[in-house]
Amino acid sequence: MKVNQNYSKLKENYLFSTISNKVSEFKQSNPNENIIYMGIGDVTKPLCNAVIDGLKKAVCEMSCEETFKGYGPYQGYDFLRQAVSDYYAEHGVKLQLDEIFISDGAKSDCGNILDIFGNNQNVIIPDPVYPVYVDTNIMNGNNINFINATEQNGFLPLPDKNIKADIIYICSPNNPTGAAYNNVQLKEWVDYANENNAIILYDSAYEAFITDQDLPRSIFEIENSRTCAIEICSLSKTAGFTGTRCGFTIIPKELKRDSVSINSMWLRRQTTKFNGVAYIIQCGAAAVFTKSGRKQINEALSYYKTNANIIGECMDEMGIWYTGGENSPYIWLKCPNNMDSWKFFDLLLNKIHVVGTPGAGFGKNGEGFFRLTAFGNHEDTIEAMKRLKTII
Ligand code: PLP
Repeated sequence: MKVNQNYSKLKENYLFSTISNKVSEFKQSNPNENIIYMGIGDVTKPLCNAVIDGLKKAVCEMSCEETFKGYGPYQGYDFLRQAVSDYYAEHGVKLQLDEIFISDGAKSDCGNILDIFGNNQNVIIPDPVYPVYVDTNIMNGNNINFINATEQNGFLPLPDKNIKADIIYICSPNNPTGAAYNNVQLKEWVDYANENNAIILYDSAYEAFITDQDLPRSIFEIENSRTCAIEICSLSKTAGFTGTRCGFTIIPKELKRDSVSINSMWLRRQTTKFNGVAYIIQCGAAAVFTKSGRKQINEALSYYKTNANIIGECMDEMGIWYTGGENSPYIWLKCPNNMDSWKFFDLLLNKIHVVGTPGAGFGKNGEGFFRLTAFGNHEDTIEAMKRLKTII
């Protein structure tokens, strides 16, 4: 018996455990200090009423023989796929229902999608990055080429013609940097992918935070993307589904490699290894796309966006370079005075009792940068920025 030896190549990620240890130590010696947490990547607002009503109605249906549901369709119920399709149509993207696969969230599909690609793929991953892309590719034994996201390119790297890629990860708006690609930049990636016969895995988990009407919310707004891209999206940050679990993956019918339809392969994979998302959850998810659902989720999104503006304005006032904030719940700032990111973390914790996330935890290019999130409450966000101004 042999285990997957690739697992031994995984690096332990000490980022959040180190943060938690440092905070615990601080609390022990300073029990009366009011700590403000701005490192959280999880939402804090509850599910909206429309979603709760959708969930309740579905629970009642499950209690009655006439309306009870057993196994559902593998790709998700039509009512939810239709709602997703209508949502995309608002941005000019036409999708057929069988191009949409309802999932239990973006993380699982980000990892599972590699099942349908062969091993030893050449993969392009930006650095810094959401760590799941890196670890899932190490598990599969793929060859990772990191491309540099830096202050110089605004943390939005473009294709390097010298790198031959099979799979390309793009996350826009980005976690951790908050930077979002525009149409022209994404077109460069689409052209590069089509020329190289590569596939773009486009993570749009934060698309709902885009406020700039000129920025694309989906890779499928870009010409010729249907022959080279898969989009993975989630309701986690859009509608507070982090603990409820629902998302969707879009694979166009035109996407083929070795004359095989990638959509058919993914369907085959899902019908074999996945029995769908709970009916109750899909009813809650469909409520997100109703008129009242949209209005209510927008209230929570606006709340987070206001926090992001408060942080962004404070950075502007202090002359600190940053990306994100405008179209993202993340503000990625350059640590003042060339401080390294852990030193800045310690300074913030010890002097003003604010907790953020050191950029170094997301890759080597994250060194010297720091992530603040907008998922806290207004009062804390305002207070944290006030405190920050006292030390910088
Ligand atoms: N993709 C990115 C870029 C994320 O930051 C996250 C969560 O933080 C996810 C995917 C995971 O989303 P889900 O909760 O749908 O699994």
